Amino acid sequence: MQRLYRARILNPTRTQCVTEYRDGALVVDADGRILAVGSYARVRPRFRAAKIVHYAGRLLMPGLVDTHIHLPQLDQRGKHGATLLDWLERYIFSAESRFADLSVAEDISRRFFKKLILNGTTTSMVFTTIHTQSTALAFGLAMASGLRVIMGKVMMDQHSPKSLQEATHRSLNDSAWLCSEWDGMAGGRIRYAFTPRFAPTCSETLMRETGKLVEASGAYLQTHIAETVAENSAVKTLFPRLHDYVHLFERTQCLGPRHLFAHAIHLSPSEYRRLARADAAIAHCPLSNLFLKSGRMPIERVEQSGVKWGLGTDVGAGPSMSMFAVMRHADYIQPDRSVEPMVALHRATRGGAEALGLDRETGSFAKGKWADFIVIDIAGIDPVYRLAELSKAEVLSLLMYRGDGQAIESTYVAGNKLDVDGF
Ligand SMILES: [Zn+2]
Repeated sequence: MQRLYRARILNPTRTQCVTEYRDGALVVDADGRILAVGSYARVRPRFRAAKIVHYAGRLLMPGLVDTHIHLPQLDQRGKHGATLLDWLERYIFSAESRFADLSVAEDISRRFFKKLILNGTTTSMVFTTIHTQSTALAFGLAMASGLRVIMGKVMMDQHSPKSLQEATHRSLNDSAWLCSEWDGMAGGRIRYAFTPRFAPTCSETLMRETGKLVEASGAYLQTHIAETVAENSAVKTLFPRLHDYVHLFERTQCLGPRHLFAHAIHLSPSEYRRLARADAAIAHCPLSNLFLKSGRMPIERVEQSGVKWGLGTDVGAGPSMSMFAVMRHADYIQPDRSVEPMVALHRATRGGAEALGLDRETGSFAKGKWADFIVIDIAGIDPVYRLAELSKAEVLSLLMYRGDGQAIESTYVAGNKLDVDGF
């Protein structure tokens, strides 16, 4: 049955432009695809048979897109570390080691996907741990949650804690098996990402063979790059023949579209240009970068290069699951320029979908895309707010600077209202 959702609608149509319908309509077909978006007065006559779902006094916008998040780190949020390495060694490696136990993995995975729903994040790109069975279990829960999820088992075959280091062939075989089992499931809602953690914990052989698997499968690749100055120095020492950091990915053929690089803070203009030329993308995680004092992604260089980029919570180094929190920190981290609410919203929705190569599927409202959207009650931020009294600029600003999960009333993926108690 066709459904027509009537609400105030925001739709990020271009980088600097959010289209608004004060009395809007979003029409969705029985499969969960969008048939039309526009003002209620114009759309309603074309879809007389559609069942109307009234969201009076509510705001409806595309679901949020988190391009970088770690499932096993859910409960490690907000635990202080002086540096990335200090934090990894104090909390993260031991937390990830516990995923050898399937009951731990099940509990955390289930709560993780519930939290995504509660925060209005409809699409996410997720790291699990090195554990194959725990990752399979997480995929099962991702399927059951109804969310759009790109996910992969972490790969690390050197310079890692003993409990998290794998044999190279096992890492490759298990990743290939998970990809064959899960990539493309649920009509493409579930995708696989080969996930070499970051260069220092991955041998060149692992990288090279992973590049071949990505190529052969058409799946994704996700990793970290140039998060800290110390990491860049370690890479220089470990791979002395490299011209620079991006060269490692060029040399191992781990660079192309559907390749997501988290952080990308300490790179040269040439490296950003080469990422752009390869049609790779960056996950910008400002809240995490502030938390670990990793540095600031040079937004002007990134934009000059033309490389695609989205936003990521980077939970657990990012203490918040909310993409609204990430949006405001994308502004706070820039010392001398402002990231406007409209631009931040674009990055948290459509821009993120572009970075993931999913902009024909999700990220904004257009005919043929999946109906991935959230219903927002602005009074959830503060009961003093009345949606009808707020301008578009005020709404965008309040969401960005004060928004969190409290504002999210419902989360829909492919026209299905997701139920946190349903899995
Ligand atoms: Zn990360």
